[in-house]
Amino acid sequence: MPIFKWAFAGSLLDYGGMRTVVYPGSFDPLTNGHLDVVQRAAKLFDRVILAVAQNDSKNPLFTLRERRQLAAQCVKRLANVEVDTFDGLLVEYVERRSAQAIIRGLRAVSDFEFEFQLALMNRKLNERVETIFMMPKDTYTFLSSRIVKEIARLGGDVSPFVPPQVQTALTARLRGRRKG
Ligand code: ADP
Repeated sequence: MPIFKWAFAGSLLDYGGMRTVVYPGSFDPLTNGHLDVVQRAAKLFDRVILAVAQNDSKNPLFTLRERRQLAAQCVKRLANVEVDTFDGLLVEYVERRSAQAIIRGLRAVSDFEFEFQLALMNRKLNERVETIFMMPKDTYTFLSSRIVKEIARLGGDVSPFVPPQVQTALTARLRGRRKG
């Protein structure tokens, strides 16, 4: 009987293991909406990897290194969240990091079509990787990095929408641009 019990416990452990999820995005820059999603994911998974995508085609305001550093500063109090960068196929990165799933945020119906297509394509590429969608707090559903950059560019106050480090970085970058 004890042998049976151990074997059963062992198989549960193998199956359970460490649950890791990758939260990919451009994070140009990280907003309070992203933070909200990370915090929720951190409660569900043993480890969350916030993976900043190179995404040069999106012509980012911040370099990959800057986006990574800003994100790392903003999540440093979350013990099971790690920040990394990646380039290339997301599903390959997920396997490389021994993660089981991808988290994406869903704000409104307008996000759905693209995210649905992306999730199904990622499943075609690797059916072991699941995509999980999370909804942020309702006050963040209208937030996007693009809108935050636009407001900052026009001199508006972005403090309700981004962590203080991001606000400072945005002001410095845009001041630099106006001078340059
Ligand atoms: P991408 O270029 O991959 O869309 P983003 O940095 O814009 O990268 O977004 C990364 C992920 O975070 C996406 O799943 C996006 O839907 C989600 N996201 C962005 N803004 C918010 C927000 N305000 N609330 C919840 N999820 C969000």
